[in-house]
Amino acid sequence: MNPSRPQHAPLSGFAIVDDCLQVGGMALTRLAERVGQTPFYAYDRALLSARVALLRRCLPSEVQLHYAMKANPMPAVVQHLAGLVDGIDVASGGELQVALDTGMAPAHISFAGPGKTDGELRRAIAAGVVLNLESAGEMERAAVIGNALGIAPRVAVRVNPDFELKSSGMKMGGGPKQFGVDAELVPAMLRRMAALELDFHGFHIYCGSQNLKVEALREAHEKTLALALRLAEAAPRAPRLLNIGGGFGIPYFPGEQRLDLESVGINLGQLLPALRARLPQAAIVTELGRYLVGEAGVYVARVIERKVSRGQVFLVTDGGLHHHLAASGNFGQVIRKNYPVAIGNRMQGGPRETASVVGPLCTPLDLLADQMDLAQAGAGDLVVVFQSGAYGLSASPAAFLGHPAALEVLV
Ligand SMILES: *Cc1c(COP(=O)(O)O)cnc(C)c1O
Repeated sequence: MNPSRPQHAPLSGFAIVDDCLQVGGMALTRLAERVGQTPFYAYDRALLSARVALLRRCLPSEVQLHYAMKANPMPAVVQHLAGLVDGIDVASGGELQVALDTGMAPAHISFAGPGKTDGELRRAIAAGVVLNLESAGEMERAAVIGNALGIAPRVAVRVNPDFELKSSGMKMGGGPKQFGVDAELVPAMLRRMAALELDFHGFHIYCGSQNLKVEALREAHEKTLALALRLAEAAPRAPRLLNIGGGFGIPYFPGEQRLDLESVGINLGQLLPALRARLPQAAIVTELGRYLVGEAGVYVARVIERKVSRGQVFLVTDGGLHHHLAASGNFGQVIRKNYPVAIGNRMQGGPRETASVVGPLCTPLDLLADQMDLAQAGAGDLVVVFQSGAYGLSASPAAFLGHPAALEVLV
């Protein structure tokens, strides 16, 4: 291993016993037998719980925690988290169904998304969840549907802020965006809202995702709270809800450092009293997806063939980009980098070598690890892709090339 090359951040969550990775307190080799097939995703229940506990410890106690379930919509995972967090954020009618099935109180479920159909709005209004309105047009449609149902829809306004979350993996606010209502148009929308039968709850201000920088998050929180105070002046009633977004990132690639959550919490704690003084009734919510689930999940595939091509070692597995697009580098990455990958049944011992892990698809894009330092492995060994609990299976083109589906288990 070249020590001057940037390394992956250490993965502390999973134990190793007798050289074998443990997931959910079980040796990976045995778990593979229990599952009955590879490839599969495994999510560790204890790690999910530990992550929520960490957030509770580091963030100010008044900050409520919502799970943004698009990160991992597996019903068992959502159900487990529903018992630990304060609310669930959904972004489709399908996700709404899963969230309601958990028993989470509808008032603590919010529904965002720039293209909600009338059918989805109707279901959400009937359910009693909070609609994060993404446009003035959507507000009008919600009011019409509410009238027809005899229900005053619970609504918040999703704001497209007039600033960005700097150094974010994905910017979802600032500048022209399909998400939310431009901040400068919100006061007029709120004035119009006063004439409609809508139950105004507050604001949803989301500016970005996958951020590892304390400073960037502090700046975004500061600007978010200032914007909320400004907009509250035009509101038909005092806001009861302020969703300040999330965007907490996890380390995926070599050289990335874990987010210093403690500092994020301290900074937020310093900002909140000023808000509290002016909006005493507003519940402060942060919504997190990958930070809650990303590190608790692994993707596991089995080596079918080991081959050497002109001096380079390839481990050909039964899993690939059709199950894990993000690890292949094709889910929004500009430059492909390796996720943390290991041979799960040879975690430490034995000789090592530089090898690439590829899948069975007939495309060079099907690459899970590009010339990584790995334990020497061959047919039957288990390749593990870490940091796979978020944007894994549900964010992958499962039908591409007609290979078998991956299973998912919560252990
Ligand atoms: C995608 C999304 C999230 C979750 O993002 P993560 O990076 O997984 O935390 C939260 N809120 C909204 C509005 C989103 O669109």
